Amino acid sequence: RPRITLLKSDDSRLIEGITMARLYDSRKRIIVTGGAGFLGSHLMDRLISRGHEVICIDNFFTGTKKNIEHLKDKWNFEFIRHDVTLPMSYEADEIYNLACPASPTHYQHDPIQTTRTSVLGALNILDLATRLKCRVLQASTSEIYGDPEIHPQVETYWGNVNPIGPRSCYDEGKRCAETLFFDYRRQYGLRVKVARIFNTYGTRMHPADGRVVSNFVLQALRGDPITIFGQGSQTRSFCYVDDLVEGLIRLMESDEGVTGPINLGNPDEFTIRELAEMVIEQVGSSSKIVFEPLPQDDPRQRQPDISQAKALLGWEPKVKLRDGLARTIEFFRESILPGYAPS
Ligand code: NAD
Ligand code: UDP
Repeated sequence: RPRITLLKSDDSRLIEGITMARLYDSRKRIIVTGGAGFLGSHLMDRLISRGHEVICIDNFFTGTKKNIEHLKDKWNFEFIRHDVTLPMSYEADEIYNLACPASPTHYQHDPIQTTRTSVLGALNILDLATRLKCRVLQASTSEIYGDPEIHPQVETYWGNVNPIGPRSCYDEGKRCAETLFFDYRRQYGLRVKVARIFNTYGTRMHPADGRVVSNFVLQALRGDPITIFGQGSQTRSFCYVDDLVEGLIRLMESDEGVTGPINLGNPDEFTIRELAEMVIEQVGSSSKIVFEPLPQDDPRQRQPDISQAKALLGWEPKVKLRDGLARTIEFFRESILPGYAPS
């Protein structure tokens, strides 16, 4: 299949120290579904800075134009507004499938559409990848493990998921997507990669998506009460977005036999109460902590075992929670609260 060459006047620039002439040899055309979202937009930044052509497919369900605004004039970026539950036909060398609302508030807003996006989205992406005979990576999730009885979670653990609860549209949708990825591999020999992503945070999180890091940071910046659900003894392990993106790219570029599912996350585990206290301290906020009811089926603990990622991808997170939080707080301070002036 001939590659489209989009050589423009600025193509002779050095990109990350490599000349375009050399880049041209290794340049790929890469589809990122869900590219206008939090993780997808960071992933596209990294791929574009490496000189690849990137096609972002998104329907702006939870993603924003603001997340991709800085890319719109890049010669190697293209945006296509499309819902992945509908079939699609484009040309590419690789596909990252990230399209799916990820925060409980968003995915429970229209649970049927969430299952549709996970399952029909996976089918459409897999059909496209089969036609193109290209590599395809699925953004799966630690929610596969549900409320885990094994700690930390290893990839061989099959999980403890409620099939009919309010989180099931996401958990079971993602589980079915994993099933499809491995069936396409068995049936059609498709080159699949499945990443089980644990809680990730950082700049460009949607301020209204209700996830714990963005909620706490915004509440602390505004001096509002910090809302801990339950007693705050439940744990999560928070990975900074830059580390996560590096892991996704390493998985996509790994040897043919490395299919996953593979855990990608930061193994440093914190209680939600510890997180609240850290945010209050780092923001220098006068916010008080309030306790609200724990949502149904909220997992009690979550920590990735990343031995496989270390051994097979040479990957492990580098950014400590304290440092990642500092960057995230700065982002919300500057972009979300323009009138904010620290006391
Ligand atoms: P996000 O909500 O910020 O991004 C999801 C993107 O998918 C948005 O741009 C949204 O508009 C798009 N989208 C949703 N439905 C679509 C559809 N039907 N067609 C086309 N586009 C659609 O979420 P995120 O945090 O960036 O997560 C990205 C992926 O990573 C998701 O698949 C999520 O399940 C997975 N993941 C994320 C985390 C995390 O902590 N952020 C953890 C585990 C897994
Ligand atoms: N949480 C909380 N206060 C909030 C938002 C979330 O205490 O304002 C808790 C939530 O109940 C869960 C944890 O923080 O135990 C992580 O929630 P999030 O929605 O970020 O992700 P997930 O539950 O999918 O891991």
